Amino acid sequence: MTFRDLNLKKPLWKALDELGYQFPTNIQSSGFNVMMSGKDTIGIAQTGTGKTLAYLLPCLCMWEFSKEPHPQILIIVPTRELVTQVVSEVEKLTTYMNVTTCGVYGGTNMNTQAKMVMLGLDILVGTPGRILDLAACGSLQLKQIKKVVIDEVDETLSLGFRPQLLHIFDYLPTKRQHMVFSATLPEEVSLFLDDLLITPVRVEAARAGLPIDKIDQTGYRVPNFLSKVTLLQHLIQETEANSKILVFVSSRTLADLLFEALEPSLSDSLGIIHSNKAQNFRFDTVQKFQNGAIRVLIATDLIARGIDVIDVTHVINFDIPESPENYIHRIGRTGRADKNGIAITFVSEKDESALLAIEELMQQQLLFTKVTEDIEFTEELLEFEKPKIIVPGKNSKLPSSENRGPSFHEKIAKNKKVNVRYNHKKAMLEKYGKPKRKR
Ligand code: AMP
Repeated sequence: MTFRDLNLKKPLWKALDELGYQFPTNIQSSGFNVMMSGKDTIGIAQTGTGKTLAYLLPCLCMWEFSKEPHPQILIIVPTRELVTQVVSEVEKLTTYMNVTTCGVYGGTNMNTQAKMVMLGLDILVGTPGRILDLAACGSLQLKQIKKVVIDEVDETLSLGFRPQLLHIFDYLPTKRQHMVFSATLPEEVSLFLDDLLITPVRVEAARAGLPIDKIDQTGYRVPNFLSKVTLLQHLIQETEANSKILVFVSSRTLADLLFEALEPSLSDSLGIIHSNKAQNFRFDTVQKFQNGAIRVLIATDLIARGIDVIDVTHVINFDIPESPENYIHRIGRTGRADKNGIAITFVSEKDESALLAIEELMQQQLLFTKVTEDIEFTEELLEFEKPKIIVPGKNSKLPSSENRGPSFHEKIAKNKKVNVRYNHKKAMLEKYGKPKRKR
């Protein structure tokens, strides 16, 4: 099947031709007619399978020119990076259409975005908080919305965005079509969607949670932080000079620590991104990674989802992700758009249960590679890795008074005394009677 077999508008065919896209991916072809029929749709597709176009194409086909300045299509995504990425995909597809798209997200001046929105637009892409703020202050009118897309729906519904999302729905007309997309769909998100969607049709490019088979996955058993650094340096040296390596760590502090450890050997070709970095720095870093100026990028789960960086050759899980779904999202940063990818995961003793959960979700075991003899691991632990020693009486907490049991010995007589407060006025009254007032 080619894109010509889908009932698209001519300007879309033209744009797809220019992009060099000839064949729709699985989710694009299987979801197209369902979405075009106007039904609520749940799209389960691994990242990198073309799910952005899967919802954009039907949305753009159903879009109708209107003189109204208010948007018809609302696309809600969880991160600012994803906003700019989706906006850029829409712009590429609408080169030959008279469609205005606008991206809004927090952390930047709201007035500028409010002014932009008030100039008139057809498609709004944004993060929940900023969409809500703009709607609440009256700059954004959502009464013309016909299509609502929620991308990375499990994340969008879990990041504490849920109350904001529900509030956004209050501004929308009741008659609207929903299209929700994700690679994974945990039970609680499914339950939430049961309430939101009307008899949705489920379109699956593959079973939820299944990683792309073009990604070669392997694991290494590594005992601690410093040994992980040694192995990582070795792996980076081993890869070809044009490789793009994305290294995921579990927290911002660890990301900073790893950056310090790798910077002497990698200097300018090393980058870091996490939520404590300024927005411009974040965009700039992703851009540099995109164009190859940065070869190794250290990241937290902030960019585990949706972000499409061309030709990421390796994803290295320096720390195993806490949720198994995030493993699928992280490794989905490589092996995109029909390319092969390598995903490497470092596993220490304490990660066994997280590993099991991942294997259960994927329904396959992770194969482990033995480290070569020239790599020496250390037993040295950094402060945060050392087991906490609890000194009784110092670190132990006393139970609250109502939970405390009786003491194990009788109180001596002097300690049984109940303190009675001495009241001077009362004592004087008892001794001398009521004082006579002077006339
Ligand atoms: P996504 O899963 O939406 O993040 O897309 C992953 C990458 O595949 C993006 O760079 C898309 O531009 C690209 N892509 C999407 N659809 C196609 C297609 N039909 N043919 C070739 N590349 C595509």
